[in-house]
Amino acid sequence: MRLVVLGAAESGVGAAILAQKYGYEVFVSDMGQIKPRYRQMLDERHIAWEEGRHTESEVLRADEVVKSPGIPDTAPMVAKLIAQGTPILSEIEFAARYTDARMICITGSNGKTTTTSLIYHILKKAGVDVGLAGNIGHSLALQVAEQPHGTYVIELSSFQLDNMYDFRAHIAVLLNITPDHLDRYDFCMQNYVDSKMRIVQNQTADDTFIYWEGDDYVPVELKKRPEPCKRCGFSDAPQEGAAGYAAEGQLVVHAPVQFEMPLADLSLRGKHNVRNALAAAIATLSAGIEPQIVRAGLADFPGVEHRLEKAGTVRDIHFVNDSKATNVDACYCALESMDTPVVLIVGGRDKGNDYSQIVPLVQQKCRALVYMGADNAKLHEAFDGLGLPIADTHSMASCMEQAVQLAQPGDTVLLSPCCASFDLFRNMEDRGEQFKAWVKAWQE
Ligand code: ADP
Repeated sequence: MRLVVLGAAESGVGAAILAQKYGYEVFVSDMGQIKPRYRQMLDERHIAWEEGRHTESEVLRADEVVKSPGIPDTAPMVAKLIAQGTPILSEIEFAARYTDARMICITGSNGKTTTTSLIYHILKKAGVDVGLAGNIGHSLALQVAEQPHGTYVIELSSFQLDNMYDFRAHIAVLLNITPDHLDRYDFCMQNYVDSKMRIVQNQTADDTFIYWEGDDYVPVELKKRPEPCKRCGFSDAPQEGAAGYAAEGQLVVHAPVQFEMPLADLSLRGKHNVRNALAAAIATLSAGIEPQIVRAGLADFPGVEHRLEKAGTVRDIHFVNDSKATNVDACYCALESMDTPVVLIVGGRDKGNDYSQIVPLVQQKCRALVYMGADNAKLHEAFDGLGLPIADTHSMASCMEQAVQLAQPGDTVLLSPCCASFDLFRNMEDRGEQFKAWVKAWQE
């Protein structure tokens, strides 16, 4: 069997190594430059690779292809593979063939990394032999090949789910579905919804599906689905039949077991994080973790970088780095959790955003807006009419200068951009780090 891997980064290189272990003839092809670390991993194992091109004669004779989730189906080589009927898998699908481990999978438009990290934190605390994998940046295939675990906590993006077919999640969490990545789904919301719902496909009566009842799409989709899994819907407030909710200052879970803890003990702030905590509590209780360990884990979870991360205070102005808010809904949650006036930094590469959703909150919470993007036209259109002070910037340097001028003591400067970062930055981490570097420099 010949396996071709398209895209030689974390997931692709892991898949190549696992495939070689199981006797595949492996070829790795990357249109861009392969990072030295990954090149070395391939060379050490004598796995054939190319970079800067996809050689058609090498790629098209694959029996199966593992495609990096970043490569769209419209890429010419992928389109050719689809046309000739070659199966295209995600790394997660491929890796799952070679393990019987328990799979705890998390998807959603927002909150994936936070909830995945929370679940992992609680399982680690409980002494479970657990690996962290998927979209969070660690290859599942590499762990299956070289460092196997009995349980994996896997963050899944819609792009990974798109190429998953037989994979079965023993515990699946679907946090929410809000418009995102529509450029990859023919600008059709239902296509994106269908992709997210793939997380339940193949679930059996032994498996658990955890979801947010308040979502616009998931409860509707569930009415159409045949999967016999145990459904655990949680809600924001007490609701008949809900597996969990928040009520009178307590986080309450009814299924799979009774569980309660004070909301004030949760380490993460904000309404959205109560949802993430509910999902994590139900998932870990379903995995058989003792309630007191779940409680302790939810209380001492240290948080995740670039997600509502406190970046410091200068001259009584607070700085919060939420660079990971790359869509409008994430910014909505960030604004909702703010309890001081806000100078909001917004902008970047727009993914088909509809800003009308956050206009009332912007009006209510913001003292000023700082636009930061290569092209701010859409932001002007959405927000200029509100009458707030506005600064138009095209770099982190001028953005930060404007932000501190517009902020008053006691305010929060919030970087929660609603957009991808690739117009001005390498990635969202780069954007968040530059933001934090400015704050740090001012502190010194
Ligand atoms: P993802 O991995 O899905 O991108 P993260 O956990 O990295 O999600 O969080 C990204 C941003 O999304 C956070 O900074 C926060 O503003 C927002 N967010 C987190 N959890 C939720 C949730 N349950 N619902 C809506 N928004 C959320």
